[in-house]
Amino acid sequence: MKEATSFPRREKSAELFARAKAVFPGGVSSPVRAFKSVSGPPLFIKRGDGCYVWDADNNRYIDFCASWGPLILGHNNEQIRERIFKAVASGTSFGTPTLNELELGELLVKNNPYLEKVRFVSSGTEAVMSAIRLARGFTGRSKILKFEGCYHGHLDSLLVKAGSGLVTFGESTSAGIPPSFAAETLVIPLDDRAALDEALEKYGHDIACIIIEPIPANNGLLLQDYSFLKYLRQKATEHKVLLLFDEVISGFRVHFAGAAGYYDIKPDLVTYGKIIGGGMPVGAYGGSNELMAFISPDGPVYQAGTLSGNPVAMAAGLAACHQLLSPNFYCDLDHKTNHFIKNLTDHATENKYSVTFPKVGSIFWIAFSTETIKRADQIDPASMKFFKLLHAALLEKGVYMGPSGYEVGFVSAAHTIEVLNEAAEIINWAMDSVFSDL
Ligand SMILES: *Cc1c(COP(=O)(O)O)cnc(C)c1O
Repeated sequence: MKEATSFPRREKSAELFARAKAVFPGGVSSPVRAFKSVSGPPLFIKRGDGCYVWDADNNRYIDFCASWGPLILGHNNEQIRERIFKAVASGTSFGTPTLNELELGELLVKNNPYLEKVRFVSSGTEAVMSAIRLARGFTGRSKILKFEGCYHGHLDSLLVKAGSGLVTFGESTSAGIPPSFAAETLVIPLDDRAALDEALEKYGHDIACIIIEPIPANNGLLLQDYSFLKYLRQKATEHKVLLLFDEVISGFRVHFAGAAGYYDIKPDLVTYGKIIGGGMPVGAYGGSNELMAFISPDGPVYQAGTLSGNPVAMAAGLAACHQLLSPNFYCDLDHKTNHFIKNLTDHATENKYSVTFPKVGSIFWIAFSTETIKRADQIDPASMKFFKLLHAALLEKGVYMGPSGYEVGFVSAAHTIEVLNEAAEIINWAMDSVFSDL
């Protein structure tokens, strides 16, 4: 399949993108949106409803990006919309405690066995940044341990990659980060007990927390063995290092209590974002009463926010969480996603295409490989050329995926079996065209 050089369906989006480039770096407010690793201009989306979005050129797409994860109930969910309208009618921000905030907090703590206290912030990055400060404040230690291939937002000490070697101090992946900041972060591969052992033996006494996406979903979907996660929990306890589950994607996605609930493994600290705000900007972090007592105003770890617990955002989160707690919500979503993925897998297997579809709950990834991939270094960067072709073909036929082969896709409660069948047909057709020239 040849790469297209003009995009007649995207004329209006192209025009708007040209304007946007004059006022925003790269024309966007967040980098991956710029479509750098796929073809053509990014779509300007003007409307979403259920599992569909419409772009500025009036094309309709079945959406699997879901605003990068938050929209587990689809676009323009009626209950969320109505609750937001009601909140807005009473004012948009007070900078005081509110009932919506209290109710959402109570709902979280009541339905999540790993959470005794929670603090609301306004993004996933802010949640992670605050939880790490808490881990450092509580333990009196400076270093943190992260895994190569996990993303935790754009805070300085976590924009790091591994150097060469099993256990390394982080090398910054962004300009503007002092090497001394990056040096507080140790980086090891996922799925590697020897590296974990070595890191804890050598530096355990100086490590405040181990941070992991228990379901790593920001660099492909690097599903970990349950036994590795159990081992991690056990080792963290042995070395008195806090275990921080970054559940900004997996929280409320695979289970109401996130990956912790899904695997039944207790983290010491947990961070949320994305789904928790029902499509509005909300993040949260929490843990035991003992740990959270260290947060100001109770304790010495300072953390604050002008718009934290914003009443409109809390209203959206509440309306979302109520629906997630309905019986069989996660079970139904899982079944639908299994059906969809089986369609794709069967077609790929019949045609002997080098592609697989790792999935957990309603998260899936299109991996241009037949191997089981558990670590970042097992992804072949050259395989991304297939995704680029696939992405362009899908946009032509009305299926919207996140614009990078490292991004996962999300099925929402608004995707019906009929729509998923239609989407699978389109994806299978697009696979045929991607592989036809090989
Ligand atoms: C999205 C994400 C973040 C960052 O959240 P923002 O709201 O974009 O700041 C952090 N950690 C994980 C696991 C994420 O998926």
